[in-house]
Amino acid sequence: MGGRLLKNIPVTALKGVGDSLAGTLKKLGITNVQDLLFHLPSKYLDRTRITPLGHLRLNTMAVVQGYVLTSQIKFGKRRSLECTIEDGSGTVRLRFFHFNNTQKARLEKGTLLRVFGEARMGATGIEFYHPEYEYIDPHKPPEVEETLTPVYGLTEGITQPRLRKIIMQGLELLQKHALEELLPPEINREFGVESLSHAIQFIHNPPPDTSVDYLLSGQHPCQKRLAFEELLAHFIVRQQLRQETQSHQAPEIQQSPEVIQQFLDSLPFTPTQAQQRVYGEILDDFRGGYPMLRMVQGDVGSGKTLVAALAALQAAASGYQVAIAAPTEILAEQHFKNFAAWLEPLNIRIGWLVGKLTAKKKRETYEAITRGEYQIIIGTHALFQDNVCFARLGLVIIDEQHRFGVNQRLSLQQKSLSREMPHQLVMTATPIPRTLAMTAYSELDYSIIDELPPGRTPINTLLVSQKRRPEIINRISAVCAEGRQVYWVCPLIEESETLSAANAEELAAMLKEALPNISQGLCHGRLRPAEKEAVMTAFKQGEVQLLVATTVIEVGVDVPNASLMIIENPERLGLAQLHQLRGRVGRGSAESHCVLLYGDKLSNDGRERLKVLRQSTDGFVISEKDLELRGPGELLGTRQTGNMEYRIADAQRDSAMLPLVHKVGKDLLTDNSISAEHLTNRWFGDARVYARV
Ligand code: ADP
Ligand code: MG
Repeated sequence: MGGRLLKNIPVTALKGVGDSLAGTLKKLGITNVQDLLFHLPSKYLDRTRITPLGHLRLNTMAVVQGYVLTSQIKFGKRRSLECTIEDGSGTVRLRFFHFNNTQKARLEKGTLLRVFGEARMGATGIEFYHPEYEYIDPHKPPEVEETLTPVYGLTEGITQPRLRKIIMQGLELLQKHALEELLPPEINREFGVESLSHAIQFIHNPPPDTSVDYLLSGQHPCQKRLAFEELLAHFIVRQQLRQETQSHQAPEIQQSPEVIQQFLDSLPFTPTQAQQRVYGEILDDFRGGYPMLRMVQGDVGSGKTLVAALAALQAAASGYQVAIAAPTEILAEQHFKNFAAWLEPLNIRIGWLVGKLTAKKKRETYEAITRGEYQIIIGTHALFQDNVCFARLGLVIIDEQHRFGVNQRLSLQQKSLSREMPHQLVMTATPIPRTLAMTAYSELDYSIIDELPPGRTPINTLLVSQKRRPEIINRISAVCAEGRQVYWVCPLIEESETLSAANAEELAAMLKEALPNISQGLCHGRLRPAEKEAVMTAFKQGEVQLLVATTVIEVGVDVPNASLMIIENPERLGLAQLHQLRGRVGRGSAESHCVLLYGDKLSNDGRERLKVLRQSTDGFVISEKDLELRGPGELLGTRQTGNMEYRIADAQRDSAMLPLVHKVGKDLLTDNSISAEHLTNRWFGDARVYARV
């Protein structure tokens, strides 16, 4: 079988891989040996050295070794087994919440342990929670591992050691059989890598002399070479998506200056220069002959809704329907009311579709959409339902697009009875640094609203300790006495909606007691949609003066009369998210304040991080910082949408490669579409991430 391509060798050809294991591997997207080898380690564990206890760094994985000093059951908030070990340089504690008596008995004083786990800050200093550990014979301590241990993404039915063994077999085959080199040869030279096969071999099995720090920080040439190929595959698939979209007939949206003028005349303000410029770019796209693919970025409060309304009006006036998707019901309703107030006087018929409508109302709405009665339809995810079918969809607008997946966006395009491919406008208030946009959204053209409407007084941001809570509460009375309104926000607690709701409820009860004369509302994810809506409406109408809420209000909500926001435990949130939240105030002309009410565990780093918000109100500066500190996953909200999971690339770290990625990508698409196809197959397999149905 010499010279066979690895992608033609099924995993079942490997020892120990039967049908059942093959089924498990398939869940990981692995069917052949090439897939197996491109299942890259998500990280490495360093078991190559024993760290002295006195030299441990917090929040890193480490191997330590020490003698048991004490081991006892502690009855704190939760019963735990606490075992202290020492090695002459220091002591640390191991803590187990699940344990049995045998385990406790074996951890007796004087026993030598080798421990592997993450060093974390616990109640009593550095602790390891539920580490792996083994008993060591002091006379015959086992060797440490020679190489870094790769860690792979798993699925149910397979363990790390088992997958590692199978991958090792794959690496043996790689000695005899080839992986296709799909990139031009100068790329390997550029990275100083002998071949793709070499890079793959290295990644799964880094040799003992590799610099650990180098590898752990993703700087090794082999890692760079593979990251390049991955970024290239993403770029190509998005370019293909773009080309495919543009091969369709576009709706012909005519200019109707009179109706636009009529609309502008009815507004109490004039659009900013930036709003006009971006609207102009959209008009150019409408005339371009291809379906538009445009992302509009604008900092929170920059007035994206108006730009969307202008585009929607233009499309509706040309006889097309417009679908506007928003990520929450609160936001969908706000848009609905805005659009109705703005455009119904111009005889535009506007409908809305959200999950909470009765079945009957929904059915009527579907029918009206299909008959083409509604010209603009605003909704939540409910718009993506199969029952929704437009008579003549000309424009799709997605607000707060990072809350949606690419596939959801694409599914909306399919929902028209007419043959044309609707224009697409996606809007985001999470300012995405240009480099990241070049990778994450390379299929989209890019417009920026880089100017805030005039007359806004900058928000004053304060860092205040929770110890000073009483002062802040007094501040609320003063603000409400001036007729202004206040948000008090509790962050999500460890992703648990239930806990954060409880937290918000507790806080609300405390505030009620402290401020009996202030009318207060409570809004969190646990409320029924109707309840949420009632509270939000009351807040918008000024009946509620103080709104206690979880981060459900993070996106879009617009209540210009609110001038004070207090954010509880801001240290738990990302900077970009805090900036979004803060953007709920400072929307009117009153001077606004945002109080970051930090807890007593705030570290120096944490304080430095929050200071960024005090120093800047520019969303782009803030998200650059966030990107640096927390990586792109958080910023793009990929955990919510599952969009952009890279195996090895890192949009920030590898951003210097992007110009070359784009150049090679464009060359491949024009000169060598077969290689381009093989490349995307290699990285995405059959499960073409951005496939349209
Ligand atoms: P975002 O970009 O965060 O979605 P919005 O579209 O909600 O911002 O606009 C924020 C506020 O600014 C709204 O109250 C809106 O009516 C107002 N606004 C929008 N454009 C202008 C403008 N050109 N001049 C004054 N106010 C404006
Ligand atoms: Mg908005």
